[in-house]
Amino acid sequence: MPVTPEQQAEIDALREAPRETLRTVSEGMERHLYVPHQVLDHGFVRVVDYMGDDAAICQAARVSYGRGTKSVQNDEGLIRYLMRHWHSTPFEMCEVKFHVKLPVFVARQWIRHRTANVNEYSARYSILDREFYIPAPEHLAAQSGVNNQGRGEVLQGEEAQRVLNLLREDAMRSYDHYEAMLAQDDNQQGLARELARMNLPANIYTQWYWKVDLHNLLHFLRLRADAHAQYEIRAYADAMCRIAADWVPAAFAAFRDYRMDAVSLSAQAVAALKRRLAGEVVTQENSGMAAREWREFQEVWG
Ligand SMILES: Cc1cc2nc3c(=O)[nH]c(=O)nc-3n(C[C@H](O)[C@H](O)[C@H](O)COP(=O)(O)OP(=O)(O)OC[C@H]3O[C@@H](n4cnc5c(N)ncnc54)[C@H](O)[C@@H]3O)c2cc1C
Repeated sequence: MPVTPEQQAEIDALREAPRETLRTVSEGMERHLYVPHQVLDHGFVRVVDYMGDDAAICQAARVSYGRGTKSVQNDEGLIRYLMRHWHSTPFEMCEVKFHVKLPVFVARQWIRHRTANVNEYSARYSILDREFYIPAPEHLAAQSGVNNQGRGEVLQGEEAQRVLNLLREDAMRSYDHYEAMLAQDDNQQGLARELARMNLPANIYTQWYWKVDLHNLLHFLRLRADAHAQYEIRAYADAMCRIAADWVPAAFAAFRDYRMDAVSLSAQAVAALKRRLAGEVVTQENSGMAAREWREFQEVWG
């Protein structure tokens, strides 16, 4: 279970006590506020605070005194223009603060995104819970034969069972040892928490608060909600995409159209497409593209 009944009660109490505010409110985001969205087996992502909405992006772009909204259509057009032309600073005017519970190996990938503010649960100060990520059978895949950084077919039968058993046994054994080292009794003082944690595997869960502006959130989502990202971090990014789509619908739609579902073309790719349109047969050899780039080009353009 990603949150305990006590934690759920705290979340419910917060949601039952709304307050009046003069600040900008995104109706879509209000529905998400505080609510944990389950990710993986024990993880979650939830919004604990946010600032701004679609109109705030336009307000900043126009440096307005009031709400800045001319009309919804007008705002959408402006947001699409800003996104299309990489005029990014108005998107930095919106902020969001997430509470995320995630396996340590996912956190290692996530923390590479340096443009956020992070505060992590301290395993020097507190004892970690006995919670480990164990992949669902459909995500237990073999090493990819074509991509060194990827997965191939899903493991089956005896092999899948053996791997699952090893993952579970190793997790439980190392947690038992963690507890044994921490224990204080007549025979031992108990090892410091900051040291005892070092034998815990990378699939144990950690938690953090992660605050980021919308521009950098979209950059994170562009990289991590992408098919090239590892499934486990993508599961979090996908949940955050759904939240962002409700928070800033116009900005997120523009992001989808001009970033996520868009393709950027190299000079060689533009030339190859022009030559194709003129009826020429273009091959990798005469395209000026390396084999890998050519393969990626063909995946999009056939
Ligand atoms: C599919 C995938 C595979 C990856 N594989 C590997 C791997 O094998 N090994 C590995 O080490 N990493 C890997 N990474 C991590 C990747 O190289 C980046 O570190 C990570 O995606 C963070 O991106 P970022 O620096 O753009 O983000 P952020 O840190 O959020 O930065 C956003 C932008 O701000 C600017 N910026 C921020 N800090 C600085 C700075 N100090 N100096 C200059 N500009 C800055 C840059 O323009 C940057 O793009 C992988 C990432 C992905 C998505």
